[in-house]
Amino acid sequence: MIPYGRQEITQEDEQAVLETLRSDFITQGPAISEFEKNFAAYCGSKYSIAVSSCTAGLHLSCLALGLSEEDLGVTSPNTFVATANAIAYCRAKVGFIDINPQTYNIDLDELGSRLKSGMRPKVVLPVHFAGHSCDMEHLNALSRQYKFSIIEDAAHCTGASYQGKKVGSCSYSDLTVFSLHPVKIITSGEGGMITTNSEELYEKLILLRTHGITRDNKKMQNPTEEGWYFEQKELGYHYRMTDIQAALGNSQLKRLDSYLEQRRRIACRYEEKLSDLPIQRPLPSDESSWHLYEILLTQHDRTKVYNLMRKAGIGVNVHYIPVHTQPYYKKRGFNKGDFPNAERYYSQALTLPLYPGLTDEQQDYICDHLRKLLS
Ligand SMILES: *Cc1c(COP(=O)(O)O)cnc(C)c1O
Repeated sequence: MIPYGRQEITQEDEQAVLETLRSDFITQGPAISEFEKNFAAYCGSKYSIAVSSCTAGLHLSCLALGLSEEDLGVTSPNTFVATANAIAYCRAKVGFIDINPQTYNIDLDELGSRLKSGMRPKVVLPVHFAGHSCDMEHLNALSRQYKFSIIEDAAHCTGASYQGKKVGSCSYSDLTVFSLHPVKIITSGEGGMITTNSEELYEKLILLRTHGITRDNKKMQNPTEEGWYFEQKELGYHYRMTDIQAALGNSQLKRLDSYLEQRRRIACRYEEKLSDLPIQRPLPSDESSWHLYEILLTQHDRTKVYNLMRKAGIGVNVHYIPVHTQPYYKKRGFNKGDFPNAERYYSQALTLPLYPGLTDEQQDYICDHLRKLLS
């Protein structure tokens, strides 16, 4: 089966992990800060905080911005459940805004009109679907007018750009959160990375990542000379990444640009080879990280095509089941029909395989087979 996505692990990666395994620290050692430093430099952000997953990063980001019971957090229904769950973890109210049918990202005109008619989120979490950034300048203008914070869910977006700057530079947001799961652009096994330019948010995140504990005398209520002493200042979590994971992530980061090039090339080949089929293809983009190549079967039965592609050994997938239609979110008051664009999109969507290492022959096979099924 050709999967829809997969990691690539090189000898350099193995070597980096092995070196860490043989060193004094397999967690809470130097590999973490090395990875953080390089990640921040790549994105052009002041700070970078490694965490155990993107989900953990989204949760901590919501906490750091003070999201709590009285508040509303808003995101797109076309995402993995983790984005909405991060809001729910803080006991805040979860809100969705429907997607734009061309970009599949949160519809900012719709958000604008909801804000105009009184919606008051404390935090908005745009999701850069498939690697295509949302219009962050537009969202940022809304955030200044209506006073909300922005956390970018950039799980699909490591290495992508927006207006010539790397996603994660936080030019138009408070925080950006990346996923380092093996199916994403680069991996640390499991892992996430948060970037920000705010020292205040950075300090909060560092504290919250490790139980709310500090060992820094300057930050203590009762500073002391006793070497073992630490203080818990808040209710934090254990959301750390290990040094083993950081060593892998750091090694992968060196190949990020090459991965982006390979992904772009595969996307361009799909664009060419599928151009005459009766499907909706993704918008072309030089700045996308091309995490997913999503086509819409506007004139065919998607489920039938999905099953027949799978039967032929092609691991197509579907991203995403609209989050508000999940039983848990139905319990929270949402219903089918609430966000028709996301639901229509979902009924037609099919994710084609795309990852570095997918060969031209495999891609030709995928395209030929799809063509046969649609003719
Ligand atoms: C993968 C993903 C996440 C969660 O990432 P983890 O690192 O597995 O926690 C969150 N949001 C989106 C959009 C994702 O695709």
